[in-house]
Amino acid sequence: MTDAEASSCPLCGSTLHAHFHSDRRRDYRRCQTCHLVFVPPPYHLTAAREKAEYDLHHNDPHDPGYRAFLGRLCEPLTACLTSNSRGLDFGCGPGPALALMLRQAGHDVSVYDPFYAADERVFADRYHFITATEVVEHLARPGAELERLWRCLLPGGWLGVMTKLVRDREAFANWHYKNDPTHIGFYSRQTFTWLARQWQTDMRFIGDDVMLVQKPH
Ligand SMILES: [Zn+2]
Repeated sequence: MTDAEASSCPLCGSTLHAHFHSDRRRDYRRCQTCHLVFVPPPYHLTAAREKAEYDLHHNDPHDPGYRAFLGRLCEPLTACLTSNSRGLDFGCGPGPALALMLRQAGHDVSVYDPFYAADERVFADRYHFITATEVVEHLARPGAELERLWRCLLPGGWLGVMTKLVRDREAFANWHYKNDPTHIGFYSRQTFTWLARQWQTDMRFIGDDVMLVQKPH
């Protein structure tokens, strides 16, 4: 058995997963339980190389194009919130643009990022909402990380996720999104539906790449 075959699904822990795709750099496997497509750990970048990749992508919080991109999550999320809600932007990156937009909408927002804002005390608090935009595809342990975020939500609180979704094997083969060496987990609608079922709630799909889920009261 190879290392790739021996690893368990990083989202649900299942050992039932099969080869999904290979390109010139990596193998990709798909979990039969939660349908996550994941890159096995032997292909993951070191933390130093991962950060070097992120340092190349400075998004300007004031760039209108980038704000419109984040608006796809920000607008439907803020429509669910009451004024002066308290939130956490998980994986904010070097320029916390979404936190800025949510603060401008009247909310109190903390930020966390393992490379740029690594203050773990944020996880001791409870929030009305948590956002993770273009984050979950980078997580080596998405199951544990998403469970931690879910625990940090108040009853009735909202989790908003933005990530591009896997459609099928053919589309995956030609997908630029998989070529980013920091992208190691690829989710589909089935994956988010599985996750919502675990949490005993419903997943709302908004457009092509935004998911909103409310923690039961
Ligand atoms: Zn799985």
